[in-house]
Amino acid sequence: HFRCRSAFKLLEIDDKFRILKPGYSVVDCGAAPGAWSQVAVQRVNSAGTDPDLPRGTVIGIDLLNIPPLDGAHFLPSHDVTDLATHAKLLELLPHSRAHVVLSDMAPNASGFRDMDHEKLILMCLSLIDLAGKILQPGGSLLCKYWDGILAHELQDKLSAVFGSVRTLKPNASRKDSAERYFLAGMYRKQEKRL
Ligand code: SAM
Repeated sequence: HFRCRSAFKLLEIDDKFRILKPGYSVVDCGAAPGAWSQVAVQRVNSAGTDPDLPRGTVIGIDLLNIPPLDGAHFLPSHDVTDLATHAKLLELLPHSRAHVVLSDMAPNASGFRDMDHEKLILMCLSLIDLAGKILQPGGSLLCKYWDGILAHELQDKLSAVFGSVRTLKPNASRKDSAERYFLAGMYRKQEKRL
């Protein structure tokens, strides 16, 4: 009943690290066709399926259209790296705060491995700016990247603002692909430098 097999990667990661809890607010970046959002809706109870648990919020963003899903609020035709999208998220999120930012975003692959790697790393770096605006202290960021020379730079930038950063390769991810995930937790806002 999931829209896409990618759901199993998020289920596997969340079963192990418990990043999605009832009542949490989640932003799902690159959400189409909506399988990760389906998982998030279940785990944060944003459709109110269990009336005894707090009800969370799921907001999904994609350049493409996303078929409607009970419990999720979608922003189709939106670019996650666009400042106007950040502003909209601040409006839509309860208290303008997210507990978790998920990103399974990927650019259209050109077939040139280094170029695609670089493009996706830049998209991931823009998530750190987004986190600076919406992520709650202690919050988590899970983002997909394609391994390559710039992965360490992304890892360093994440480590500067998150208390823990792990590299994950879910079993549900094809062994021969360069696909990896960074799971960054214990967000602390960057100190303002004088
Ligand atoms: N996690 C999704 C699911 O489970 O259904 C699958 C995501 S798919 C692998 C990657 C998505 O990232 C594509 O739908 C693509 O349109 C989207 N994407 C790529 N660049 C984007 C951007 N700048 N802003 C928003 N979405 C983007």
